[in-house]
Amino acid sequence: MTTTAPEGLLERAERLYRDWRLGAVHEWKARTGGLAVGFMPVYAPREVLHAMGVLPVGLMGAGDDLEIIRGDAYYQSYICHIPRSTMEMALNGSFDCLDGMLFPAICDVIRNLSGIWKMMFAGKVVRYLDVPQDFDPAMGGRFWRKELEGLCDELVAHGAKPLEPEALRRSLGVYNTHRRLVQGLYDLRREQPWKVPTHELYPVLRAGLVIPVEEHVEMLRAYRAAVEADASRRPMDLARVVLTGSFCEQPPLGLIKSLERAGCYVVDDDFVQVHRWIRHDVPTTGDPLDALVNAFLHDSIEHPTRWVEKEPKGADLVERVKRSGAGGVVFCAPSFCDPALLDQPMAVAAVEAAGIPWTAFKYAENTGQFQVIREQAGTFADSIQLWSAVS
Ligand code: SF4
Repeated sequence: MTTTAPEGLLERAERLYRDWRLGAVHEWKARTGGLAVGFMPVYAPREVLHAMGVLPVGLMGAGDDLEIIRGDAYYQSYICHIPRSTMEMALNGSFDCLDGMLFPAICDVIRNLSGIWKMMFAGKVVRYLDVPQDFDPAMGGRFWRKELEGLCDELVAHGAKPLEPEALRRSLGVYNTHRRLVQGLYDLRREQPWKVPTHELYPVLRAGLVIPVEEHVEMLRAYRAAVEADASRRPMDLARVVLTGSFCEQPPLGLIKSLERAGCYVVDDDFVQVHRWIRHDVPTTGDPLDALVNAFLHDSIEHPTRWVEKEPKGADLVERVKRSGAGGVVFCAPSFCDPALLDQPMAVAAVEAAGIPWTAFKYAENTGQFQVIREQAGTFADSIQLWSAVS
């Protein structure tokens, strides 16, 4: 599978993706003197931070690049890996450049991590973002707006600019552009997956977590232009699959490459969802904070960490499979991930009812052996190709 274009961009993206010491954030702070605030997966109101001159920094663990020594001491053995690597990085000084941390309410592990953070980093902004599970604007909307206003007050107390409506409208516009570009790459990969291999797209998306959104917009544009112009990227006879469950702790890049080498075109996935959490443009007219609140209430993706009101769980996954023309689903979740693994039986029931083949395995962000996964994925890909040939 080719990785020839664009020159230098992919190397930079992978460097940023692996830079758990946050060198790019250090540089940004030295250049601007602004605040930088980290956030855990899966969603953070980045537009608000951006409008206040704060750099939002997405943290998704250390992958397979860091040996965990002290982080393990904070957690029992039967939970996922990302809180351990996050603690390890906090303890080894990697996050010293961050002026605060946001912990979106996605599971008990993140909730506990926010409590540890509050005790250990008392002088910094530390907020558990209790995102609403009631989508009535008069209830959940009011609540979420108040949470955001509380966050703004705390940021101002630590030196950020006060939130101005006009600045927030501009930030909504910048993130709208960014979202369209990310979505455009997902669309292109769905239509021509040989143009946008996931082992390239993934680090490109991860790079956007540690650099200013304006720079990432340029990176996305350059990547799109380069892959579209690269005539050497030709279709291959691979099986199209949707990968689901990897929304928080991320699989190592080697695992993604193994899936592709095993014969899979990943045509949809759950990676770095903060870039796609809100589906469409957020209106830039009217009250901009209300616009962001309403987008969260009514235009967020279906997700295991969100209450699903009407449709049965798994309906959205079936829809994604149909939309992407995939031949099967790979349930690929971190070990011990409650939100992903508690939803999985319902999602499996939904895809089975729709006659969609599936397979499942688990990983940790530092998994180093891919042979078993590669064989399983290869067998699955072959069987999809065979079934589609005879049906
Ligand atoms: S991997 Fe799953 S269980 Fe672990 S922190 Fe993330 S959402 Fe929570």
